[in-house]
Amino acid sequence: MARQEREPAVLEKLGQQLLAWYDHNQRDLPWRRSRDPYAIWVSEVMLQQTRVAVVEERYRAFLEQFPTVMALAAAPEQDVLALWSGLGYYRRARMLHKAAQFVAGNRNGILPATSAELRLLPGIGAYTAAAIASIAHGERVAVVDGNVERVLCRLQGWDAAGRTGGAALRRRIEALADRLLDAERPGDSNQALMEMGATVCVPRNPKCMSCPLTRDCKTRGEHKTQPRPRMLSQEVACALVVRTIGEPGQAYREVLLEQRPDSQTVMPGMWQLPVLRDAAVPDGHLLMTVRHAIMQVNYYVRVRAASESEVEALTFAVGERRWVPLVQAAGMALTGLTRKVLTRVRMLRALPPGSIAAPPAARVP
Ligand code: SF4
Repeated sequence: MARQEREPAVLEKLGQQLLAWYDHNQRDLPWRRSRDPYAIWVSEVMLQQTRVAVVEERYRAFLEQFPTVMALAAAPEQDVLALWSGLGYYRRARMLHKAAQFVAGNRNGILPATSAELRLLPGIGAYTAAAIASIAHGERVAVVDGNVERVLCRLQGWDAAGRTGGAALRRRIEALADRLLDAERPGDSNQALMEMGATVCVPRNPKCMSCPLTRDCKTRGEHKTQPRPRMLSQEVACALVVRTIGEPGQAYREVLLEQRPDSQTVMPGMWQLPVLRDAAVPDGHLLMTVRHAIMQVNYYVRVRAASESEVEALTFAVGERRWVPLVQAAGMALTGLTRKVLTRVRMLRALPPGSIAAPPAARVP
């Protein structure tokens, strides 16, 4: 890789162009209206592996329920998972919760102000620490995520898709991101680069005509694109078991849910529909088929409507089961798939903010 460093004056100009572009083109996102380190922390953790449109809605609900580090720390883990339901990658929620408990117990609920100190907290890595410190406290530290990496590699003509580079390339990217920071507005500089990567210099078909860096870009769309990781597919099936309880006029419906045991590596503690023994559901019993992606796997899920009397024979139990009134289900820590299925059959009602429901006490013997 040839060394093609740019003059400090050029880098300063590029940094200013980025900021000017950001000032006029940034999306109006709720976390951008806050300088509260806790709110920025929550948004950064949510955004790491989830689309902005999904995060927007969940971020508001999360902060309404847990407006401070102390409020989050004091909440039961099931309540935190309930508000994370649908965002996926639930380990993030658990780590956020644990770190909040650490900050509540050891720092009186106050987050450290520097990226170096933030990195000492459990579950906060270099990226999150730099984002919080630069945006909330104006620390001059660069944030490098996948978007920033892509923009800077294209700008410089560095081959991010090739086998060369590795740690050395990463260091060059970090050094360049650092030199593009505005001394007065490092948080905005960081957000400008990330925003550019998310909206203009996108992975496929970058919009070079609208790019503030196009005059100085060494590739302008002529670059190798990272191949998409190949998705695997898997077929599974689950049972939707609903019963009606109570006298006419006061009757309500309950759905049978099962809690994934803590020993599961994926989504422990979350509530799901019972899993069918046989993924091949006969046509007459098939309620719907749902595609649900988790990491690199596309799950094709057949949903079978089953009665209370047949559920034991049709499914295998992995954890504790409970009958849950449908009005409470929305506020529980449901897996994304279960939330999707119950929403599609119009059984899930959105609860007003602040009404997280603990799972009912009655368990299925
Ligand atoms: S000119 Fe195109 S390839 Fe270069 S940084 Fe801008 S959007 Fe990316």
